[in-house]
Amino acid sequence: MKVRALNFLVCPSCQSTLKLTTDEQDGSEVLTGTLRCLECDATYPVVRGIPRFVDADSYASSFGRQWTWFRKVQLDSMNGTCESERALLATTGWQESDYAGALVLDAGVGAGRFAECVARKDAEVFGVDISSAIDAAYLNIGRLPNVHLAQADIFALPFRERTFDLAYSIGVLHHTPDPRAAFDRLAANVKVGGGLAVYLYDRYGFAHRFPDLARKITTRLPLRVMGVISALSIPLYYVYRLPVIGKLLNLLFPISMLPDWRWRWLDTFDWYTPRYQWKFLYPEVFRWFRENRFKEVEIFDGPIRMRGVKAA
Ligand SMILES: [Zn+2]
Repeated sequence: MKVRALNFLVCPSCQSTLKLTTDEQDGSEVLTGTLRCLECDATYPVVRGIPRFVDADSYASSFGRQWTWFRKVQLDSMNGTCESERALLATTGWQESDYAGALVLDAGVGAGRFAECVARKDAEVFGVDISSAIDAAYLNIGRLPNVHLAQADIFALPFRERTFDLAYSIGVLHHTPDPRAAFDRLAANVKVGGGLAVYLYDRYGFAHRFPDLARKITTRLPLRVMGVISALSIPLYYVYRLPVIGKLLNLLFPISMLPDWRWRWLDTFDWYTPRYQWKFLYPEVFRWFRENRFKEVEIFDGPIRMRGVKAA
């Protein structure tokens, strides 16, 4: 972590100032140390360069494993595509001028694919994740000068309310035990006049029904076993591309159909392993924005992608 992160971090339980004791440093990076709350005396360790406000993966252990195994797959800088940049724009609609000088929150940073895009802009980004994916993010982007990371729970974020100019959560809130409450916490951290954008799974149509049934089993299997089962998507892709049988198989037991085999494997694992996977309709999420006093709420293609601006 950078000492500068203390400008934004506070004790998640009482919102008071934290004092840093450094045990090990590498240049401007604090690798090991302790954060102590000046008010309630709670302590939070800094381990492998990351302040830790939770001590376990909790309900998100599949993501810890996922982003350890597939750390580089979705990063634009590593795969030579602009896929993450495209998905970030598709969800937020924010232009370069929106990012200028902004403090940005990435809630559920994973391995850092979107935070890496933001770091290329004239902005400072803070990525949080409850799972050990945060270590993958640190290896990928943790040393960039305008990136901060913390392992923290979205329901107990280590920030004061109204800290961020922009906040986004892409494909994350539906994996928490209570997405609406998670949204409210996130919304509270946005400044008045600031922007919030989310991407959530939708439950339009019926394509999700069969895989939802399969998930009743797959979410109970050991992650290593699911790692192997998901790998079947690599060769099965060619069977699933056949005209009739492929369509039928994809209805009953869908796999990712992405052409990149690693991404396909990761995506299939990502669908069948998370403990929680809620799905929503646009009107529901629209109400979340409205009830948190957001205005100019916009709806984008590829449900569910929405953004809003926080009113006074
Ligand atoms: Zn405290």
